[in-house]
Amino acid sequence: MTSRPDDDTRAAGAPARAVQRVPADHFGGPAGAAVLTLLVPAISFYLWAAVAQHGGQLWLPASVADLVAMVPAPTGRAALMFTTWMGLQVALQLVSPGKVVTGAPLADGARLPYRMNGLFAFAVSIAIVVALLATGTVRATSIVEELGPLLTISMLGAFALAGWFYAWGRRRGALERSSGNVPYDFFMGTVLNPRFGLFDLKLFFESHVGMGTWGALAVVLPAAELERTGSLSTSMLVVSVCQLVYIVDFFVFESNLLSMLDIIYENFGFMLTQAFLVWMPFNFTLQQQYLLESPTTLPTWAVIALFTLNFAGYVVFRDANLQKQRFRRDPSANVWGKPPKVLATKRGTALLLSGWWGLARHTNYLGDLMMAAAWCLACGFGSVVPYFYFLYFAPLLVNRERRDHALCKEKYGDDWDEYCKRVPYRIAPYLY
Ligand code: NDP
Repeated sequence: MTSRPDDDTRAAGAPARAVQRVPADHFGGPAGAAVLTLLVPAISFYLWAAVAQHGGQLWLPASVADLVAMVPAPTGRAALMFTTWMGLQVALQLVSPGKVVTGAPLADGARLPYRMNGLFAFAVSIAIVVALLATGTVRATSIVEELGPLLTISMLGAFALAGWFYAWGRRRGALERSSGNVPYDFFMGTVLNPRFGLFDLKLFFESHVGMGTWGALAVVLPAAELERTGSLSTSMLVVSVCQLVYIVDFFVFESNLLSMLDIIYENFGFMLTQAFLVWMPFNFTLQQQYLLESPTTLPTWAVIALFTLNFAGYVVFRDANLQKQRFRRDPSANVWGKPPKVLATKRGTALLLSGWWGLARHTNYLGDLMMAAAWCLACGFGSVVPYFYFLYFAPLLVNRERRDHALCKEKYGDDWDEYCKRVPYRIAPYLY
């Protein structure tokens, strides 16, 4: 560990970078970024209020006072919970064992080292949560009572963190993709990989904080139902078990994150600080928050059907991602027991035409969407609010596929057109 902030991503000995000015042209430019900086938090508060104050239903704010009233006031108890949890995550990041893995090459060719200790840290965190709940040291219902104040404190934390990273980027001689416009740079970020030695803050907040807190709430919310009613509803069980499988899978394959856009491309601005501190833990557990207020009992056939949908989705998602990884490591390795069909490209990296990648160009997204659908359907049809995850995620993946398509067209040129001809479906074979 170094004792001072070190976000220099250059290879040792490389010349100092010049300030990199970029046009403010994402998300509607400066005005769009300013609107999103207010709108995205408002969505999280609105959804929380829908569940906690409006019986799990959509609601129409009648006045500005209504909008203000949906923001819960922070409490001392919530502040203590928040700081204890964050302190635990920092301590676990520092002491947990884990392999040091080299990240994917960044735009300037540099490759950063990362300690991958998320699985260990998550296992210890969940063991602590379960022990505290099981021994009655902490009551799950007390945590749930503080969910609103925790949301506000987390949001304040996201603003503070984004402010810190903005100042961090501005302090440096070489800004990373800054537009010079304050609201835009605050939202998009001005620093790519803020870190203290091996302690990479973006990876830490995405993995330990974002996924880890989501996992902890996926345990606390069913525990609260158990405390309140003395039993666990089938719907709550389906949602939390399926989500925990997804989260554990994320930690098992944590190093995959290192090749994703969040880590190699996106600066660490408010868009990401709020995603990791607020959006993931609070909005991804809306289903359980809703079920706690509006319990739904699923018949056995529905439980079986939803587990089947979820685990079928999981197999598609995981197997598709593994097939691509294996193929990138060894292009001649068998796929589904047969030598792979391959499209050689002028770029040098071949494209796989077998297995999931021969059925559609992003079956991994299809798997993700099947799981999302299972988690939402488990909440029944009493409200659209618990469907938020699917309703936000489906357009996000459709858009992501379009962006990846454009990127691949740029990378592969005519070879990508040929691949698209051979594999015409984007996400779902024979459907889309
Ligand atoms: P992918 O893992 O689908 O990777 C896309 C890249 O794979 C392309 O740019 C190309 O890069 C390579 N590729 C494309 N087609 C082929 C082929 N036929 N053969 C070999 N390589 C190919 O993209 P993502 O990073 O978007 O997704 C990773 C996972 O994360 C997915 O399962 C997705 O569902 C999930 N995800 C989850 C989110 C969440 O919030 N839960 C959000 C976003 C993603 P190259 O050729 O340069 O290697």
